[in-house]
Amino acid sequence: MKLAIFGDNRLGVVGADGTTLVDVTAALPGHDADPLTAGWWRGLCRDFAELRPALEAAAKEGPEIPVESVRLRPAVLGPSKVIAAACNYADHVTEMHGVQERTLGKVEHWMMDFDVFLKAPSSLAGPSDDVVLPPSVVQAGHEIHHESELVVVIGTGGRDIPVEKALGHVFGYTLGLDITVRSPGDRSRRKSYDTFSPIGPWVTTADEAGDPAAFTIDLVLNGDDHRQHCDTADMLMPVPDIVAYASRIMTLHPGDVIFTGAPPGVGPIEAGDLLDTRITRLGGMTVRVR
Ligand code: MN
Repeated sequence: MKLAIFGDNRLGVVGADGTTLVDVTAALPGHDADPLTAGWWRGLCRDFAELRPALEAAAKEGPEIPVESVRLRPAVLGPSKVIAAACNYADHVTEMHGVQERTLGKVEHWMMDFDVFLKAPSSLAGPSDDVVLPPSVVQAGHEIHHESELVVVIGTGGRDIPVEKALGHVFGYTLGLDITVRSPGDRSRRKSYDTFSPIGPWVTTADEAGDPAAFTIDLVLNGDDHRQHCDTADMLMPVPDIVAYASRIMTLHPGDVIFTGAPPGVGPIEAGDLLDTRITRLGGMTVRVR
């Protein structure tokens, strides 16, 4: 099932070809349009198996609305954490040596190993939103890069989750851009500006999405500059390992989000650019930079 948040934080079930959706909000217990409470969404992530029959019934009955006629919101609502993996593709680690030589004048060797860090949940944006480059960062002359990534949405939370049970804790998958300032200092600041985490266009539930090691990620800049093309099979730490690793550090809650790391091909973006990002079986979105 493909689930989209749209309009006044309503829930839609997206049709098979991704062009229509049905508003199923009325089938949700305790829906609340206030995006700052978000309880209904986290409840849906946790209790999807239970809620699914009612959503399926509502999706069959309701009128189909063209997706292009609604405002798609960020694909998730109010996660307690946005976790992100660093250095999860070998070719990206290699390219980061060159990027750091150019942007920092040196290689920060501690940043060349797999790890997780946090992005502010307030940096989330939707497919209908622009990425806004902070004027002070642009004036300082720092490069701002796109990273196009597979994103995991947690269903049942937990801590110390074993690798072999990790996929059972995944609610679904979506795609995200981990927009990043290449300047000295902490990742959490450089990646947490408002709009620096576009995520969408919807969540594809784990049962429909299938094996997270079988996706292909693409990012095309301005229609002809094919910057990123990568199979998720090339991850150094596959999705179950990332979930298990993160859960040994912090308790994962329903609805938490994990960016799984940048494929190779990251590069600078400028005002006016169009970022077209897609992942096989999950959909795509085109985001403008200003
Ligand atoms: Mn990243």
